[in-house]
Parts: sequence; structure tokens; C-alpha cells
Amino acid sequence: MLRGILEGMAQTFRSLLEKPVTIQYPEVKRPVRARYKGRHILKRYENGLEKCIGCALCAAACPSDAIFVEAAENTDEKRYSPGERYASTYEINMLRCIFCGFCEDACPTEAIILGDNYELSFTGRAASIYTKDMLLESVASEDQLTPQSTPPGAFTRSVPEMKDTTE
Ligand code: SF4
Ligand code: SF4
Repeated sequence: MLRGILEGMAQTFRSLLEKPVTIQYPEVKRPVRARYKGRHILKRYENGLEKCIGCALCAAACPSDAIFVEAAENTDEKRYSPGERYASTYEINMLRCIFCGFCEDACPTEAIILGDNYELSFTGRAASIYTKDMLLESVASEDQLTPQSTPPGAFTRSVPEMKDTTE
């Protein structure tokens, strides 16, 4: 028994010499792992156009039916995304989401990704619905906001050229 007490005390003294592991959150944030799946982001292209084309494949792939997408038609005068359609409504119910990443895998334009933001909090069911405005990536300047007026015929393709999968 005495041996056990001495071992315990030795462990305590050794711990006193170790560097503290406490992180002063929220002032200091610990980086997440490379494969961490946090809050979703709806991505844009460099010119500000939205990558989402409102195809709803993410909603179809979602095992917990957490995504709601409604599509509308683009025009060259009022363009949100390349191609014919864009998501006029895009919502994720964070109470249902299990952060599996299936939506990310299903998306043909890499529009939806699960980022590194883990600061999700809400106090009611209504606030758990994250809307398109909340999910959409911000822009560097106002002229990159959507909708944009674009040259006729410049953005007819809604899905980018396929990348070489062997890269
Ligand atoms: S991460 Fe999974 S559960 Fe959450 S919205 Fe995407 S597909 Fe649905
Ligand atoms: S996020 Fe991707 S899969 Fe979902 S509606 Fe938009 S383009 Fe389609």
C-alpha cells in the first residue's frame, strides 16, 4: 500500500514539472485535424460566382435528410452560378446533420465542403436551420457578389471539366 502511495505522489510531482496543456479557448484555438469535418461552406469560384448549381445531389445523398435545395434559372443579366440553374434556397438542418461528408462527396462541382469550424450553437429548432446566406463563402470585393451580369454565352457549362483522377 505504501508503495502505491509513493508511486502516486511521484506521478503527481512529475506532472508538476510538465508544461500545462490547457488551451485558452476562445482566445486561442487548437488547429483541427486535416480530415476534420466541421460546419459546411458553400464555395464560390474566383470571380465570385457560386459553385452550387442547385442539382440537389447532396440532398439525395444525405442519410439524415438534413439538406433542402430549391433551384431557379440563371440569366446572363442575373447570374448566380455558371450554367442554367442555381440554388435559390439552400438549407441544412444542423440538428439532423451527422457530419458524415456524403454531401461533399456527392457534389459534382465541389460546391459544398465541410470546413474546420466547430463553433455551432443555437438555442432553438428554427435557429438550427443554416440558410444559404449563412453557408455561402464571403467575397473579397462587392463586385464579386451574386447575382452578376455576365457576357452572353460565357458561362454555359455548369460542371467544370473533369480533373484527371490519377493526379
Ligand atoms: S454531412 Fe452528412 S448528414 Fe450532414 S448534411 Fe452532409 S450528408 Fe447530410
Ligand atoms: S451543393 Fe453540390 S450537390 Fe448540392 S445542390 Fe449544390 S451543386 Fe448540387
